[in-house]
Amino acid sequence: MTPMTVSSPGSHPVSSPTPCSPWRSGLASLLSVIATLAPLPLLPSLIGVTVAAVLITPSSAVQALQVQVTPNTPSLGDTLSVLIQTPVPASTQPTVQVGNKRYPAFAIAPNRYRAFVPTTPLSRPGPLSLVVSVEGQSQTVSVALAHRDFPTQRIWLPPGKDDLEGTDYEFDRVDAFKQIVSPEKLWSGPFLRPSNGEVTTVYGVRRYYNGEFAQDYYHRGVDYGAAMGSPVVAPAAGRVALVGRESQGFVIHGNTVGIDHGQGVTSILIHLNSIHVREGDRVQAGQVIGTVGSTGVATGAHLHWGLYVHGEAVDPVPWRYQGME
Ligand SMILES: [Zn+2]
Repeated sequence: MTPMTVSSPGSHPVSSPTPCSPWRSGLASLLSVIATLAPLPLLPSLIGVTVAAVLITPSSAVQALQVQVTPNTPSLGDTLSVLIQTPVPASTQPTVQVGNKRYPAFAIAPNRYRAFVPTTPLSRPGPLSLVVSVEGQSQTVSVALAHRDFPTQRIWLPPGKDDLEGTDYEFDRVDAFKQIVSPEKLWSGPFLRPSNGEVTTVYGVRRYYNGEFAQDYYHRGVDYGAAMGSPVVAPAAGRVALVGRESQGFVIHGNTVGIDHGQGVTSILIHLNSIHVREGDRVQAGQVIGTVGSTGVATGAHLHWGLYVHGEAVDPVPWRYQGME
């Protein structure tokens, strides 16, 4: 910004500012007089005055952000949608910080941004502080994250059977896939069920192994029991960002397809029999991407679908039934 941008010589006669009250006649005209008369070295301080004057103008940057969080009574596993309305378009990406994690917000309309914040069965119920930051301004919003009971399973493993390990290769690739955050929103509308088999294990099931509660375990997706070879479809539009095969080291996941839906939302479909897509393919909601199988660690033919938001497996149910626009 320079003094020239705030001075308007045409509308402010610089020859006759009111001597006793130059501020009333407009800072701009005063500045234009000084700019005309001042030697060059004074200009930097002039610019400082101009910037300060702009900052105390009540119309733009000082106004409060408007923040809306849905659902307003979230419980463990829900995805929080944080809508941010700014008085003027933000020149940098707004963010929402929860604990030590910072989530990006993406533009959904002029002056409107939206960030997704995942919660899981491992999140701590109680007050959750969301620090919304836009261009140096912050606003803290608190929501009450409700406890939720998940079903439990008791698994009994004979000695020596609980040490099955995957390969570094598969975990590195799956971890990298789950961290993808691409700015474009590729899905629209509620997500589809990826298999027409019945749900055999819901999201969030907790486990006891040999009588001991597994603190870090929860079922990170939904299982569908379906016939070997039956179709598996993309639950929503996206880009195929991961194809992994049992024959190449995906010993736990088995044949795997990962779909990037954009804005930190990803789907992983595992234990497939066959795979009908390649990395980089764009897929539409409902498009067949492979078939149900029992590759990897699976006790029978079924599809496991995991829905991830910024790397955390969230409950797909709200995405299936209400949708997240
Ligand atoms: Zn599963």
